Amino acid sequence: MTTYASHAASNVPLATAAAEDFEGQYVPTLVDRWDQLIDWDRRRASEQDFFAELLNGAEARRVLDVAAGTGYHSVTLAQHGFDVTAADGSAEMVERTRRNAAAHGQSFRVLQADWRSLHQHIDGRYDAIVCLGSSFPHLFRETDRHAVLAEFHQALNPGGILIIDHRNFDSIRQHRYQSSGNYYYCGTGATVTVAHVDSQLCRFQYDFPDGGRHQLEVYPVLSAELSSLLIGAGFDTVQTFGDFRENFDIDEVDFVIHVARKS
Ligand code: SAM
Repeated sequence: MTTYASHAASNVPLATAAAEDFEGQYVPTLVDRWDQLIDWDRRRASEQDFFAELLNGAEARRVLDVAAGTGYHSVTLAQHGFDVTAADGSAEMVERTRRNAAAHGQSFRVLQADWRSLHQHIDGRYDAIVCLGSSFPHLFRETDRHAVLAEFHQALNPGGILIIDHRNFDSIRQHRYQSSGNYYYCGTGATVTVAHVDSQLCRFQYDFPDGGRHQLEVYPVLSAELSSLLIGAGFDTVQTFGDFRENFDIDEVDFVIHVARKS
């Protein structure tokens, strides 16, 4: 069992090996509710064409969505004309992506792949990789964070970009969690709160209108920490956005987005 030291009171529960089991965290009842949580239409209205424009700016054509979830970005980018491959480590999510792609009349490759062994699953290199929806914080071990960014770097063509985001843990770790509800998790029914946070673990609680409750545990990565990991993994430049804006105040945003370029 893995435990993480907490700076908070000793009666605060510590993360267990279960937190590292990302697949186990996405139980069918949560996966069933995911689209209600993110609300595709409202999410699209808030993101507008932010990711498609970044990808076009990098002249990307072949795009790998490594954290497809229920397929929102894979479907959206396929609708924009990108040659998309959707991947996720969760069999439940992979199945949901397949169904959502079909429901939206889109056809692209969908595969189950853990980032830690990505090279074993993919076919050739990509012009861009997207890892969105605060997925990367599912990696609790520093060795995994290094290894996964190296996998992503390796899977890119020269000139390729990695777009990777996370919730604003700089604020959350200072107990200043706020969610405008305008970005990413746009569904109006569910309430998202922070049940626990310290420097190693953040536990989100999702309460649904019908009384359903789920928790997700993640590693609360800081913005500068991820930028530095990206440079360490061999990326040449990292550009950071807050809630889709280039000029932002880290104290004011819900999500941070990094665009890392490989030469
Ligand atoms: N990108 C989607 C979105 O924005 O709605 C889903 C985000 S969800 C917070 C995180 C996703 O990352 C889950 O679908 C989970 O299965 C996937 N994931 C987490 N760790 C992973 C790993 N090591 N390998 C592959 N997928 C992983």
